[in-house]
Amino acid sequence: MARKILIDMTKLRSAMVEDSALTLPEACYYPSININGLKTILELATFRFTCRKCEDAPCIGVCPADALEKDDNGVIERHTNLCVSCKSCVTICPFGTMMTHFFIHHRNKDLFYDLTDDKDVEKFVKACPAGTVTLTDSEEWHEGHIYSLNEKVLIKDYLYITES
Ligand code: SF4
Ligand code: SF4
Repeated sequence: MARKILIDMTKLRSAMVEDSALTLPEACYYPSININGLKTILELATFRFTCRKCEDAPCIGVCPADALEKDDNGVIERHTNLCVSCKSCVTICPFGTMMTHFFIHHRNKDLFYDLTDDKDVEKFVKACPAGTVTLTDSEEWHEGHIYSLNEKVLIKDYLYITES
């Protein structure tokens, strides 16, 4: 079985604070052609694991385009076809969860590393800020704060609300 990508969100955020030019290279993982707009791994990971899932989410309330909604698990989803990149949600989020990188509109899949492609995976890992992304044979491990984003990507982050 192919190795998985492990992204350490704490190290990544620290690297981004120290050098604002750094971020995760844009990468997507869409094994199906039924994609709902191109979204980066960074956006998917941030909404799933870093976002505090506010009950009365101000980001949803402020959005002038009704582009944000919660899925059945309370995870924010951004509809790329509606989002007008005003960044009001970035400004209002009290926890600084969102990043302006989310709102660059790419319609061209060639601008993303394709994580369904093994060669692109190697290039992606090399292009990431040092020490933030590794390849691993490990699986999801909640005691170690490692969670599965999809079958190819593991995320290490410290969830605000832990599972019971
Ligand atoms: S950037 Fe997009 S999702 Fe955020 S408030 Fe503006 S339209 Fe809504
Ligand atoms: S306001 Fe920020 S922390 Fe709260 S739900 Fe929206 S993105 Fe998540």
